[in-house]
Order: sequence, then structure tokens, then C-alpha cells
Amino acid sequence: MARYLMALDQGTTSSRCILFDLSGNICSMVAKEFPQIFPKEGWVEHDACQIWETQLEVAQKALEKIGATAADVAAIGITNQRETTVVWDKATGKPIANAIVWQCRRTAEECDKLKERGYTDVVRQKTGLLIDSYFSATKLQWLLDHVDGARQKAERGELLFGTIDCWLIWNLTGGKVHATDVSNAARTMLYNINTLEWDSELLELFDIPACMMPEVVPSSGVLGYSEKALFGSTIPIAGVAGDQQAALFGQCCYHKGDAKNTYGTGGFLLMNTGETPVFSENGLVTTIAWKIGDKVNYALEGSVFVCGAAVQWLRDGLQLFANAADSEAMAAAVPDNGGVYMVPAFVGLGAPYWDPYARGAILGLTRGTTRNHLVRAVLESMAFQTHDVLSIMQKEVGADMTALQVDGGATANNLLLQFQADILGLPILRPSCIETTALGAANLAGLAVGCFASMEDIAKHRHMDRTFTPDMAEETRASKLNGWHRAVGRSLDWIEH
Ligand code: ADP
Repeated sequence: MARYLMALDQGTTSSRCILFDLSGNICSMVAKEFPQIFPKEGWVEHDACQIWETQLEVAQKALEKIGATAADVAAIGITNQRETTVVWDKATGKPIANAIVWQCRRTAEECDKLKERGYTDVVRQKTGLLIDSYFSATKLQWLLDHVDGARQKAERGELLFGTIDCWLIWNLTGGKVHATDVSNAARTMLYNINTLEWDSELLELFDIPACMMPEVVPSSGVLGYSEKALFGSTIPIAGVAGDQQAALFGQCCYHKGDAKNTYGTGGFLLMNTGETPVFSENGLVTTIAWKIGDKVNYALEGSVFVCGAAVQWLRDGLQLFANAADSEAMAAAVPDNGGVYMVPAFVGLGAPYWDPYARGAILGLTRGTTRNHLVRAVLESMAFQTHDVLSIMQKEVGADMTALQVDGGATANNLLLQFQADILGLPILRPSCIETTALGAANLAGLAVGCFASMEDIAKHRHMDRTFTPDMAEETRASKLNGWHRAVGRSLDWIEH
């Protein structure tokens, strides 16, 4: 009887493998970083072969570490950095160039041109996305236009496109399966999230031959088997989802109105909107959360550009402390922010302000302000920004929330989470297993192969580490939010343009 679910968590800076038992406990974890390639200012690439090699290595090591074999693994679930684009030769399996990473801005001008040509609404209606170089479409077009002979080969059916999940599936199955799941397809800007197919008009707009596109499969379901040579015997590949969607699943946000926030370098908020897509009027992105059986769940997604990165700035830029965790004790050394607000608009502001010309600001300084007040103001800014995105989501989805699920590195900070609960007036739930992305992928796989009877069955195994209950007078909350919004107002439109 197989005891483990294997999650392959292919991130932007490292490939990781976690073996979970069927109760969601971590039994083995191995990670390996791989090189980031920066050929030019604003360009980011990965060597897709290194991605595959490191991913395979950590998977083999994770088994070895606990003396497990393939027979102990019920299924493989894959979760991955999204949008990153790989094109490879169908016959040799070799990439035709480095993968273009989601962060890469090389096609920004191309995207501006599309917006000028009036494609914003069409793209949003079809894909749920804002036209942006993050998404795969213009990256794929760039590869076809710039790699020698690529377009001709693609038209002859000799090249394949895939996001990282698809590339891993192809390699795991020894080239037998060329497939991606709906949640990853939804990030390409080529997939129609209403009709659930590659959109022929968009393929034409970006000049992409349809024959290079992968088959789109559900997020939970056996799509193929790993080659025998890799792990000693075959293992079903049964779950796939992009990292943020996998985290939403890992947090058991199964129902309309359920939401999670990840406090990492940036912040990623996703809210399940049920079986119909909600198209935002405020610049949030509509995406597919997952497809299980023939049921599709949609989500709204909003991001905060600078979240934990502001704590890194305090540590590395201002050198106020040595470890991010020190921020908690410093902030706790003062009873409140002392009237100080910090707007971390280092790279402009995203939803709901959408001002690329905003810049960071610290307001409310007095002769009595200390470094502790500043640290506290930075932690509070993470919660305020989350509040602003979540308010729009609640309005647009029209769902009443009962709690917010949280994960990511900065959720180690109790002061931050208590303040978040206070500012939202909602309980904040921190799970024991903060590896929610990997857990989500494992659970999608486990569901497909019958390790769990249902999603409710998965939720039964979920353990909470701590619940933060709101404990702030409404008046105080309103006054703090008012201070924050006034501070944001001062930071807008700072850069002259
Ligand atoms: P990512 O996956 O984006 O690299 P992580 O989820 O690992 O990020 O979280 C790291 C971020 O969290 C860093 O920006 C760091 O400054 C912040 N962070 C880590 N620990 C704490 C803490 N105790 N308090 C506040 N911020 C923290």
C-alpha cells in the first residue's frame, strides 16, 4: 500500500520535492537551487534542462532520504512557477533556447503596442488577464521570432510549447505526454477561460501555430506515468496546478468566497469565485483555480508588489536588524505606530491604485519617532495593502468571508498576523503545514488516485497552527485605515512623467 504523495514544487529559484504522508505530514523534503540567467537589464532566463535535472535529482533524493521506493508513492503532483515559457524540439527533446521566465520584461513594448491597438478588452474577456509581458503569449512569440528557423520548424509541427508543468510532464513521461493543466493554461494569455480551449483568434494575433500547443487536462486526474528508469518503477502523475492555485487548494479554499494570502517577497491574494468567472473592474486578474472531473473553479487574483521585500529593505538597505524575524520584537517594543505610516511603493503601486509613478513614502514622523515605529509601520503596511486588495475582491465577488487563510515566509510574524486580523476584522488562520503549494499539488494527485474520498475528506486532515482573532475597536480600525489611505494619497504620482 503506497504511503506517500510526491509533490514536485518547481519554483523560480529552486526545485523542491516533498513527500507527504496521507495525513498531509511532511516526511521528506529536498531542495536545490539553480542558476538565474540575466542576459540584459530586465531580462530573466532559466536553462530548462537544469530545471528538469534539479527537479529529478531532488525527487530521487527525497525518496532515498527515507529509504522509500516508487512503490511507496501513490502519485505525483506537480506545482510550478507560472507563465515561464519553454519551446523544445519534439524529436530530440532539447529546448531551442533558454526558458523565458515570468519576471522577464523583454516583451513589455510589444504589450504596450497591443494595448494601444485596443486589445485590452478582448484579451480580458477571453483570458481574464491584463495584457502584460508576465504572461506566456508574447514570450512564446518572441522565441518564434528570434530563434533561428524556429517559426518554420514550429509550422512544420517540429516544436512544442509548454509552461514548466508541461515541460516536467514531457520529461517525466519520456516524451509520451504533452499536456498542461487548466490553471497553467489560464496564465498563457492564449487560453479562453470561458470556452476552455486554446483561442484561435489569440493564437492568430500572436502568430502561434496551434500544433505546438499542449493538450489541456484537468488539475486532478491521471494524465500519464513517470518512466520506469527514473524512480525504479512507474508512478502515476495525477495532479498539476500553478503555484498560487495549488496554494489555494492546499489551503482548502474550495468554496466561493474562500481566500488565501501568501506573504512572501510579494503578496499573492486569491479568492475562489466558484463555478463562474468574475471579471474585475479594478485591475484584478481572473484565472482558473482548478478543474476536477468536469467542474471548473475560477478565482480572482490580486498581488501586492512589495510585501516581505519591505522587511528585506529594513534589514539590508537600512540595516536596522540582522534577521527578518527580529522585526517582530522591535515592532512589539512600541505600543503602536506612533502615527507613522510607510507606503512601500518602491516600484509603484498595483491594485487598487495602479500607479507606476508612485514611490515609497514615510509619513507622520515626529521628534519622538524611533526605529521601532518605522519597523512597525512597515509590518503594518503589509496588512494595509492586503486589506485594500481584499476589499475589492469581496466587493466584486459579493461573497461574505469568514476568515483569511495565510501562508508564506512572513506569516512567522505573529504581530503582523494579529494586526492583519484587526485591520480586516476577520480571523486569520495559519495552518501547521505552511508548505501549502506543495501540499495542494499532492492533494490534487491524491484525490485523483483515491487516497482521499473527497475534498471534504482532505479538509479533515488539515491542522491549524494558530488562529488570530480580531481585537480592535472599530473606531481605531477606521482611524488607522484613514491614516494609511491618506499616506498612500501622498505617495501617488511622485515620479515626474
Ligand atoms: P519567497 O517565496 O517570495 O522568496 P518566502 O515565502 O520565503 O518568500 O518569504 C520570505 C519573505 O518574508 C522575505 O521577504 C522576508 O523579508 C519575509 N519574512 C520572513 N520572516 C519574516 C518575519 N518573521 N517577519 C516579517 N517578515 C518576514
